[in-house]
This record gives sequence, structure tokens and C-alpha cells, in this order.
Amino acid sequence: MRILSIELPEALILAKQMDKVLIGKKIESYHLQNYERMQKVGFLNKNILDFDQLLNGNIIDIKSRGNVILVDLDNNMNLLIAPEYGGELFYYEEDKAITKKYHMKIVFNDNTILTVRIKSMGCILALTSEGLSNSYMYKRDFLKGISPIEDDFNFERFSKDLNLCNRNLKSILVGKEALLVGLSNSAFQDIIYRAKLSPKRKGSELTEFEMDALYNAIKALIKERIELGGKHQFLDLYGKKGKYNPSMGPNVKGKSCSECGSEIEKMSFGGGQIYLCPNCQGL
Ligand SMILES: [Zn+2]
Repeated sequence: MRILSIELPEALILAKQMDKVLIGKKIESYHLQNYERMQKVGFLNKNILDFDQLLNGNIIDIKSRGNVILVDLDNNMNLLIAPEYGGELFYYEEDKAITKKYHMKIVFNDNTILTVRIKSMGCILALTSEGLSNSYMYKRDFLKGISPIEDDFNFERFSKDLNLCNRNLKSILVGKEALLVGLSNSAFQDIIYRAKLSPKRKGSELTEFEMDALYNAIKALIKERIELGGKHQFLDLYGKKGKYNPSMGPNVKGKSCSECGSEIEKMSFGGGQIYLCPNCQGL
């Protein structure tokens, strides 16, 4: 099964939708189920009773950075949700039938409901404000890196950083040592295809023209994916499907490049499969 990665655009869409309907609501009750696997690998609090501390908390803020969504309560508690790969968050008005496939269900004081399901990687954590700063996911996406939708992401800074990176583009844009937060392999393939660059190229060897193409491709991809309601297969808070069709990925296997007609190739690189056009991307 191919699992959809929830990257910056999708996490942002969910956080914005949640912000619209959940601010000011009080958490009245919750239900957790089938979470043992998640607990074992640290995707959910080891002590289930930690979640009791969310009770009676009023939601005062909801934001996302990178791929992570943070729900801030007025009682010093936070709910950190990282949908990562295939995670699903749904919101229900009163009396609507809800999905049975969830790990956490939250009922608010007006009987509206939020369900959260983590399909593969990802997490649901109830954390105090102090605990938050020790959380790997929080540190990864909220405290490190530049977010490509924030003002800090400007060409001057990005090109300076690229010049100092003697690493390949994959490790510059995706993973632990990435300069940016919120991108995974899926976005990466589209970005370098748009910028007409090989994933093997090193940051420091790019020309000004290539850096500019890369910068603009990142901005354009994220903007487009947000405007189209996320990647295809992605479901928003109301179950509505995203309309962004990736230019590169398993869906274009065996097809030809829309720019030049060359056959799309699959390459194993940097711990994942990358689909690319060998002609446009100069392999
Ligand atoms: Zn091509």
C-alpha cells in the first residue's frame, strides 16, 4: 500500500480548518483505542493518564509548522499531532456518524467531535508546555530549520545557505539535516523536476540561476498544493480530497515527461525512490 505523506501544505490546511472551528471549545471527553503499537515506538504517551490532563482545557491556539500540528490549551497542556504518513483528522458536527477508524476521539463541550488516526509513522502526544520542548517532533519542526512559508525564507538567505552546503539536494531539503522544515520525498521530487535539477547535485555547486530555479520551485509547489487543497489522496478535516496531482511519483511510472517526451525514470537515492526525467534533470 502506498501511503500518502502529509507535508507542510496538508498540515497547514488541517491546522487552519481546525483553527476556524475549534478555538474556544473545551475538551469534555476523549477515547483512545488500538494505540498499543504507537505507544511501543513512542508515538503516543507511555502513560495514558497523561491525556486526562487535557480534560476541561479550552483551546486557545492551533498552529502548524513543518508537518506538525499543535493544539494549545489554556491549562498549560498541548496536544501535538503529527500525521506524517497517511494520518487522518476529521471533524464532525453533532449527531453525525463518525469513522470507527481512529486512535483518538475528542468530544468538545458543544458535542462536536475530532478524530485522529495515525496510519504508519506519526504521533499523538499530550504534553505540558515544559514537556513540549523535550519532544522530538516539536524540536524537529517548530524549533529547527526555516519554514518555506515564513518570511525568513528569502532568496538571499537560501542562496547563502546553499553555498555552504557541500551535500546533495536531497539531504539539503529532506530529513534530519534539512535546511527547511515540512518537505519529504514526495514534495522533493516535484521541486527538483520543476527546477530541472538532479538530486545528486550539491548545494554549493549550483549556479545563481539554478538556485533561483530551486527557490522558486519550492515556493510555487507549496503555494499550489495549498491552493488545491493538498495532494491527491489527502483528505481534509471534512473528508474532502486534495486536487494537487504530483508531476513526479509512482503515478507517472512508465509515462513520458510532459516537457520533453523522455521516459520518466525511477532511481533509488538517499533512502527512497525518486522519479525523474533524465533529460530535463540532466542525469
Ligand atoms: Zn523531460
